[in-house]
Amino acid sequence: MDKILVTRSSMPPFEEYMKEISSLWDSHWLTNMGEKHQEFEEKLKKYLEVPLLSLFSNGHMALELAIQAMGLKGEVITTPFTFASTTHAIVRNNLTPVFCDIRQEDYTMDPEKIEDLITENTSAIIPVHVYGHICDVESIERIAAKHNLKVIYDAAHAFGEKLSGKGVGSFGDASMFSFHATKVFNTIEGGCVTFKDQDYGLDLYRLKNFGIRNEEVVDEVGANAKMNEFQAAMGLCNLRYVDGEILKRKRAVELYRELLSDVKGLVLPPDPRPEITYNYAYFPVLIEKEFGINRDSLYESLKKEGIYSRKYFYPLTNAFDCYKGRFDPDLTPIAKDISSKVLVLPLFADLSDDQIRRICAAIMKSAL
Ligand SMILES: *Cc1c(COP(=O)(O)O)cnc(C)c1O
Repeated sequence: MDKILVTRSSMPPFEEYMKEISSLWDSHWLTNMGEKHQEFEEKLKKYLEVPLLSLFSNGHMALELAIQAMGLKGEVITTPFTFASTTHAIVRNNLTPVFCDIRQEDYTMDPEKIEDLITENTSAIIPVHVYGHICDVESIERIAAKHNLKVIYDAAHAFGEKLSGKGVGSFGDASMFSFHATKVFNTIEGGCVTFKDQDYGLDLYRLKNFGIRNEEVVDEVGANAKMNEFQAAMGLCNLRYVDGEILKRKRAVELYRELLSDVKGLVLPPDPRPEITYNYAYFPVLIEKEFGINRDSLYESLKKEGIYSRKYFYPLTNAFDCYKGRFDPDLTPIAKDISSKVLVLPLFADLSDDQIRRICAAIMKSAL
C-alpha cells in the first residue's frame, strides 16, 4: 500500500532548473544578492502585489529580523495557535509574547480580545493568517492605530492570497512569507518580508547581512539570513508553475469537501469567503465527540492505512516544554480546544482523486 504523506514539495521540471542555474557556472556568483536574487525579488514583488520586499534564507529568520528591524520593546500580542516559529521569533528578540485567543470560526486571532491584553508595555501585534485564513485585518489595524502599535503578520501560510483584490502582504507594517519546501510555493528553504517603508527595508537588508552598512561601517548586530542564488533560481522556476499548482490544490479541496460533507462529528474548514482569493494551503478538520473516536485515535488509525495526517497545531506554542511555567494555555481556551481536535489531512498539488477517495474512505471507516 502506497504511503500518502501530509505534503509533497512542488518541483519544476529538472531540465528547467538546470537551465536556470547554468549561468551560475559562468558568473561564479553563488550568493550575496546576485543576479537570480534580484530577478526573483522583482518578479515576486509583482506576483504578491506588494510595494516592497526583501528575500531571506528562510521564513523564520525573515520573521525574527522583521521584528528586530521594527525596534520593538516589551510585550507583543500574538496567537498560540501557530507553528513554533512565530512565538520563538518573539522570544528570541527578548520580547514577551502575550497570547490572545482565536476565533472559533476560522482559528485566527480574535480582534475582540486584543484590547483587554494591551498594557503600557505593548509595542506590537503579531497575528497569523493560519492555514491561509486571512485575519480580520481591518479590526486589527484599527486597534493598532488607536493604541499606536506595529502590526507584523505571519503570512507563512498565505502565499499569493488576496483580500478584496489586494495582495495579503500589503496589510500591516510588514508581513513574513515562508518558502519552505512544504509550503504552497517553495525555494527549497526561503522566505521574505513585505513592507511599505523604504528605511525599514534598509534596516532589514543590513540585518540579514551581519549589520554591514558599507565596507568600513558595521553599525548593527546583524545575522546572516541571505537567500542564495540556487534558492532564488528555484523560486524563479516554481513561480512559473504556482498558479497551476494552486488550481490543482483547489480541485483537491473541493473533492475533500464533497466527500466529507456529511460525516457526523467532522467539522470541515470554514466556508470560503467571496472576498478572499485562496491558495488552498491546508485542509484542517475538527474531530468532535459525535465522530465516535477522538482526534488522536483517528490520527493513529489513518497511519495504519499508510495515511500520514498532522496534528497541526498541537501542542499550542504556549504549552511547549521550553516555555514551561511561563504561560498558561487555559487563558486561550478556544485555541486549546481546537488544538485538541484538529487534524490536517494530506494536501498537495499532485494528490490524486483516487488518493483523496482512499483517505476519505479510511476516515469514514474509522468513524464506525
Ligand atoms: C513554516 C512557518 C514558519 C517558518 O518558516 P520557515 O521558512 O520554515 O522558517 C513560520 N510561521 C508559520 C505559521 C509557518 O507555518
